[in-house]
Amino acid sequence: MTYIIAIDGPSGSGKSTISQILAEKLNIEYLNTGLMYRAVTKYFLDKGYGEKTEDKILKKLLDEITIDFKENNLFLNGCDVTKDLRTDEVTANVSWVSARDYVREKMVDLQRKIAENTSFILDGRDIGSVVFPNAKYKFYLTASALTRAKRRYDQGESEMTVEEIEKSIIKRDNYDSNRKVSPLKVAEGAIIVDSSDLNIKQTVEKILSYMEKSDVL
Ligand code: C5P
Repeated sequence: MTYIIAIDGPSGSGKSTISQILAEKLNIEYLNTGLMYRAVTKYFLDKGYGEKTEDKILKKLLDEITIDFKENNLFLNGCDVTKDLRTDEVTANVSWVSARDYVREKMVDLQRKIAENTSFILDGRDIGSVVFPNAKYKFYLTASALTRAKRRYDQGESEMTVEEIEKSIIKRDNYDSNRKVSPLKVAEGAIIVDSSDLNIKQTVEKILSYMEKSDVL
């Protein structure tokens, strides 16, 4: 029997780190759905388009895109772009891209296809609410905005200060939580895990402890 674990939550809450560790421990596959929205964003930006571009043009561009994963690396039209997806420019633009319904439709279809017939842990914003509402396990991972900003800063992938990252995180949270299509929210039946005062190991243990009594472990 295959099963799905949905890990949703705001940016910088540690979803991808925690999900990767869990996937390894449980010997199941992992899909980072944020990378997919980032890849679409990169494609639009590379073509010189932005938030003001007409939907007609963006839809056409979206049709040109193929996304594949190999060992957690994302291939955009056959090219490994994983390392280019966390730049400040992509991060500053990903929210408006992911708020377009036609972008979400294509990504959600792809996510369902990828995770079909295999046990998967997926992280994102709408996994437990929209993509896999019947997931066996649903978690909502969160932490204070400052904690999340510090974590992002320590990853060394941003040119910004902790304060600037905190501001951009709050802005993205607001955008993601208030958009019309599939807003970031706690899915029905999801367990909220606040990792503000927990390290990675403790967070993983907490999640595993919720799953312990099941037939999965
Ligand atoms: O997880 P990460 O911070 O890399 O996601 C980048 C952005 O992609 C989020 O801020 C959100 O706008 C969007 N996203 C989404 N739905 C998902 C995953 C990510 O809208 N399932």
